[in-house]
Amino acid sequence: MHEKTLERMLSLYDDVFLGGFLARSFCSLSVTLSARLTSAAGKFIYSKSPILRMRQAEIRMSSDFLTRLINGPFELNGLSAATPQEAFLLVFEHELCHALEIALYGQTGHAERFRQLAFGLFGHTATRHSLPTRRQEAAKDGFLVGSKVAFPYEGKRLTGTISYIGKTATVMVPSPFGDYRDRVGRRYDKYRVQLSELKRLPR
Ligand SMILES: [Zn+2]
Repeated sequence: MHEKTLERMLSLYDDVFLGGFLARSFCSLSVTLSARLTSAAGKFIYSKSPILRMRQAEIRMSSDFLTRLINGPFELNGLSAATPQEAFLLVFEHELCHALEIALYGQTGHAERFRQLAFGLFGHTATRHSLPTRRQEAAKDGFLVGSKVAFPYEGKRLTGTISYIGKTATVMVPSPFGDYRDRVGRRYDKYRVQLSELKRLPR
């Protein structure tokens, strides 16, 4: 992905959603792609100093994170993303809200005010950076995002694909009327499953 593409993405989002407010507020706001950022999918980097804060800030996006995504659907910020590209935009929108909150209020976090911004602008219903980091993945007994698994549910055995691993796994199970869809329009229901209940299946 070219630097120019990232700049263009930022300026389009700023124009379409915020009427150019960010360009007017920050002397310099850049978007970068980093392979070394592996602890999160994205990060908003700003100075703690009130004088320097609006002079220079950066939205850093993890290339490591996003190149590991293969097949959706993924769940990010409470929404369904069908492709890695959609997932990338959802992460970017989240970081954009941090930039906006800084410009408006001088501080940012994941409190109610942030959640209202993210919901009002982009329809995000959760603030979780909902993709596991490498470190989290390594800790989960080799269960990875994209792994095919089976688990028991109400006396049945369901099979699906892991889309997130934290303390529990989120598994997408094919279902004709599910809320989540992949890039070819197949639908899925989402289940939260204890790791101990998961059985690995061949890909
Ligand atoms: Zn955040």
